[in-house]
Amino acid sequence: FDETGQADTKQRKIEICRRSYDVLVNKVGFLPEDIIFDPNIFAIGTGLSEHNNYGVDFIEATRVIKQEMPLCHVSGGVSNISFSFRGNNPLRESIHSVFLYHAIKAGMDMGIVNPGMLTLYDDIDLKVCERIEDLLFNRREDATERLMEIASGIEGKKQKQADNKWRKLPIQERLSYALVHGITEFIDQDTEDAYKDLNDPLGVIEGPLMNGMNQVGDLFGDGKMFLPQVVKSARVMKKAVAWLLPLIEAQKGHKSDNGTIIMATVKGDVHDIGKNIVGVVLGCNNYNIIDLGVMVPANKILDAAVEHNADIIGLSGLITPSLDEMCDVAAEMEKRGMTTPLLIGGATTSRTHTALKIEPNYQSDTIWVKDASRAVGVAQNLLGSKDLKQPFVDKIKKEYADIRERRLKRPSKKVTLAIRDARADKFQIDWVESPPMPAEFTGIKVFNDYPLEKLVEVIDWTPFFQTWELHGRYPAILTDEVVGESASELYKDALEMLEKIVTEKWLTARAVFGIFSANSDGNDDVELTHKGKKHTLHNLRQQKQKAGNNLCLTDFIAPKETGLNDHIGAFAVTTGIGIESKIKEFEDNHDDYSSILLKALADRLAEAFAEHLHKLVRTQYWGYANDENLDNNQLINEKYQGIRPAPGYPACPDHTQKELLFKLLDVENKIGIQLTEGYAMYPASSVSGFYYSHPQSQYFVLGKIGEDQLQDYAKRKGVDIQAARKILAPNL
Ligand code: SAH
Repeated sequence: FDETGQADTKQRKIEICRRSYDVLVNKVGFLPEDIIFDPNIFAIGTGLSEHNNYGVDFIEATRVIKQEMPLCHVSGGVSNISFSFRGNNPLRESIHSVFLYHAIKAGMDMGIVNPGMLTLYDDIDLKVCERIEDLLFNRREDATERLMEIASGIEGKKQKQADNKWRKLPIQERLSYALVHGITEFIDQDTEDAYKDLNDPLGVIEGPLMNGMNQVGDLFGDGKMFLPQVVKSARVMKKAVAWLLPLIEAQKGHKSDNGTIIMATVKGDVHDIGKNIVGVVLGCNNYNIIDLGVMVPANKILDAAVEHNADIIGLSGLITPSLDEMCDVAAEMEKRGMTTPLLIGGATTSRTHTALKIEPNYQSDTIWVKDASRAVGVAQNLLGSKDLKQPFVDKIKKEYADIRERRLKRPSKKVTLAIRDARADKFQIDWVESPPMPAEFTGIKVFNDYPLEKLVEVIDWTPFFQTWELHGRYPAILTDEVVGESASELYKDALEMLEKIVTEKWLTARAVFGIFSANSDGNDDVELTHKGKKHTLHNLRQQKQKAGNNLCLTDFIAPKETGLNDHIGAFAVTTGIGIESKIKEFEDNHDDYSSILLKALADRLAEAFAEHLHKLVRTQYWGYANDENLDNNQLINEKYQGIRPAPGYPACPDHTQKELLFKLLDVENKIGIQLTEGYAMYPASSVSGFYYSHPQSQYFVLGKIGEDQLQDYAKRKGVDIQAARKILAPNL
């Protein structure tokens, strides 16, 4: 709204958003991608004719806003649209679905809506849909009355159909059905039948199998199918192709013909679940995927690209040091004069980082891919036809150039507080009132083969679903209207596999932890003693512009000068021992679904182990919380006393702290986790961190630090300034 009132018409909505944009972006220096406009959804069908166009006004305004200000987002409170139909929820659900269907097409990014109250657009009766659209698009005067006529009979939800009737379908349709539903049970027999029917193995692939996969691709593209289902479909496809392959080789090779894509997790990084999912999804769309695995040096990636005449190179990484490595790969591509499009993906990557740091190294196309569900669209745009590619890459180049330009123009957020002043403003603990927690045990303890069943109990399932791009909290996600079915099926498969992991001992869980006598030096270092030797843990301090508690983890340890004896702990756990052979077994059996599922579960068990071990330490070894009594939900919500900050996370973003941690606990020898050159832990299903026990210790975000702290930190650590600059790049 503005001085004259609410933004009601299309024109008013656009004007007000434009004006806000101008103020925010051009005057304040706010980033457009951080802006979410809510151009007001108002009720239709109210009986007042001046309200009839409100639906159209929102949708059309959204279209213009997204065209003029493509980096901004549009949101809206959806249920308002159907406010005048209060009391008829099934009808309201349908109106919301129809509204969202059209508004999303116009560019709406997000909305406030009860997710339990959405019907699939395709499931809405055609006649009802038409009458809703008459109303929404203001197509006839009597739209409200005509909708009310049929409103009472509207069905809210879709009927579920479970049967085996599909087995009676003709063979070609049977194959498609098996693919779309991810059923491997009959695939060998059906493939054989199809082969007998067509007498041409390649024909079976290019005919019924590809038809089925295209259907899968369309359903996924339309948001009607989700990643776990797609990965399961791919497994059906792979098994069918494997059955046919010996017959094809007798003729000539089958090749995936949409293009060849090289994929790799960059040097120093070991995480590959996301990359594997992307590979499977692209494979389903008939791209030829050459996956080089993890910890792949630039030269190997680029040599492979040349050797296979790759059409695209995709880089993946999870930890912050990988961001730097990706810049180096891009620079190396430029040096070699390559022109292959470069795709960037993974948890710490972002559009902004790609635009600012990676793309400038490489003349040809560099594109950030937000998540697995976008990969196919990007590949199609790049490799589909010339008419698609040029506008697509031009648009992205412009977007990235804009991001860089705005960054340059933006008044640099000066770190105003000098490190000296930040230290003077440290987090204050009254050590007399609230003394350190005495430790019942000091030294090091190893668990060589911890019972897995104890870890299963404390799994946090929510991140498991995120891995598969199913968003929502467990357990509510299992009954979610949109992804519930998919999530439940995935959960069932997960529990089945978990049972086998435990009873057949697929994985071995190992841990080492230590509790050491320690004091703070009064500033930012923790001095600790192990076996009579002194070690120093260097922490970083916030330098917020405003004074008022500039935190450093060291503040939670009693300073030497108090004369009090305090402690610090460290731990490393892994549940990845033994995973390799099982993964190989699955991959040999063309079963990516199980391979990815196992990796995702091993990650869950590692996090669960970290949680469980922390509890043992609090209640027994350090023993400061003997009477703690928290259920799993409370553990997940960190309701306990003390923290376990992990190097690489916001309070201590320096991954190289793991060097000291690994040395203190002798992690590699004791439990077999290795530290890569990028400070990732291998096996990937590993977690490590430090323990702080003081009741006031807390997580925080370090944020940007100044040149003064950088210099000081390098000196304290005894590394040269360039090395420190590289390590701390994300915070500078
Ligand atoms: N329940 C989650 C695991 C906890 S993630 C799961 O199963 O995946 C939370 C962990 O991240 C914390 O225990 C801590 O180790 C780390 N962490 C979170 N915020 C942090 C911060 N600001 N600084 C350092 N470490 C942090």
